[in-house]
Amino acid sequence: MSRYVYCANAPTVANAARVLASSPFLIIDCEGKNIGAADGVLSLMCIGTANAEHIFVFDVLALRSRNALSQLRLVLDLLADPTVKKIMWDCRNDFLEITATYGVLLQGVLDLQLAEIDSRASVRGEKEWKRTVRLAARGRRLPLPLIKQNPDLFSGVHSLQGMDACIKEARPLTTGKDPQVVAMHKTNGSMIWLDRPLLPQLLHYAAHDIEMIGALYEHFRSQSWITPLNEDALVDQSMRYAYSLYHQGRVAEDDVFGSSSVLPLDVLREPRGLTVPCQGCNRMQSLHCFTISRRGRQIVARTNICRVCQIKLLIKQVDHPVSWVNVTTYASR
Ligand SMILES: [Zn+2]
Repeated sequence: MSRYVYCANAPTVANAARVLASSPFLIIDCEGKNIGAADGVLSLMCIGTANAEHIFVFDVLALRSRNALSQLRLVLDLLADPTVKKIMWDCRNDFLEITATYGVLLQGVLDLQLAEIDSRASVRGEKEWKRTVRLAARGRRLPLPLIKQNPDLFSGVHSLQGMDACIKEARPLTTGKDPQVVAMHKTNGSMIWLDRPLLPQLLHYAAHDIEMIGALYEHFRSQSWITPLNEDALVDQSMRYAYSLYHQGRVAEDDVFGSSSVLPLDVLREPRGLTVPCQGCNRMQSLHCFTISRRGRQIVARTNICRVCQIKLLIKQVDHPVSWVNVTTYASR
């Protein structure tokens, strides 16, 4: 069972803020109803110290008094401090939800989901064919022949891996997610996080996510997936990842251009040259993130939606018009 401190009043928050402030880095994960969606409600903000030695489960719904919020401000200041590193797994929705609830933009994030992707080629020596096999795997509705026939569309696009799958691959790190809670999610949806009092099983589940992220961080370091040499670059990538849904904001859960199981472009590499908006995800991206049409070496047109948004249409099997937009101010080099 996970050890954690449940923080639902000002004194427990004040104590948590003191302990968290002395940790060399923080581990963060949130729970709630439809986190990151238009009707999202943050329920629990879980924050751990290094190695998940201390885990604090902040009950966002209970911490609404002026006194509690003034103590929580000390914790939120840590979240906004770019010099305090935050270890997370898929930070995108938690980033949106914390911003929506507290008006605080997380800084200094190191997202392990990106470290896993980085390691595929750089440490594990995976070749190009393996990238396409990963994209086609696990019922993503992207048949391998389709990927092979459209190399430009899928160029540089990576599949995302879930935390539970990564834990299972890295066995015997720690136990995965509690299957009973996973089943409760399937049956009752994420509304279960708004019930009070929360079932102890749910609190344990939330705290155990911090243990899993902490164990994965240590594992990734032991495998040299994260080293002092690549850590700063991973933080830069993670912050681009955190902001990747920011311009779109919280959208309906079934929005075709919401988050998907593929990594957005311009995350692993920083944007280059002219950036233009995608009419799907609303994100400004480099021209190479779109399907482009050239005359000679000159780019003359690009699609109105980015390549990853086109891939979302394929994955979600949605018919949506894709049109060309003239590019007049840019000469490719
Ligand atoms: Zn897009």
